[in-house]
Amino acid sequence: LFIVFEGGDGAGKSTQAALLSERLEASGRTVLRTREPGGTPIGEKLRALVLEHGHGDVDPRTEALMFAASRAAHVEQVIRPALAAGTAVVCDRYVDSSVAYQGIGRGLGPAGVLEINRWATGGLVPDLTILLDVAPDTGRRRRTSGALAEDRLEAEPDDFHARIRGAFLELAAAAPDRYLVLDAGRPVAELAADIATRVAGLR
Ligand code: C5P
Repeated sequence: LFIVFEGGDGAGKSTQAALLSERLEASGRTVLRTREPGGTPIGEKLRALVLEHGHGDVDPRTEALMFAASRAAHVEQVIRPALAAGTAVVCDRYVDSSVAYQGIGRGLGPAGVLEINRWATGGLVPDLTILLDVAPDTGRRRRTSGALAEDRLEAEPDDFHARIRGAFLELAAAAPDRYLVLDAGRPVAELAADIATRVAGLR
């Protein structure tokens, strides 16, 4: 069972990923909750490089390849071995984030970004992607209300985040059976309940 959370910055992905993981564990499953780069040494270095340099400093193709390389390591070293062992994998961000951020946000186009990521992941597709759809102003409020400052990638103007949001929604609309789209502005407990119901129906 491979479940991915996607959505803009401040959507609440990590909160919901934690709640779903707890619920799966309570139902007796072994769960791996992970996020790119997933603790692989090469992935950590790539992530640090992208975050350090931010958009604009790294050209979009290089940025897309760095995310794809980090993802390849994560899939090969972490996700596939876990799935092979029967562990349920709950992952914060995956290929859709690259299609949205690098494909649409950075203007590379979705097709090419999808293509390099298909190759990078060996075609591993989630059983379900949960898209937490967040409006740009809500996302910004949540990102800036916490103790952590926005990182350089998050501090993009609202219209950038609006394009990212549109990209995620389009990906979901293209494969509705593989997506659960939820309004991230709803209460945490309600969202968690909807997610739990849908995931229970998967097995
Ligand atoms: O997962 P997290 O929200 O911590 O991601 C860190 C940053 O990386 C985010 O600000 C997001 O905008 C950016 N990102 C990106 N392209 C990806 C994945 C994440 O630009 N493929």
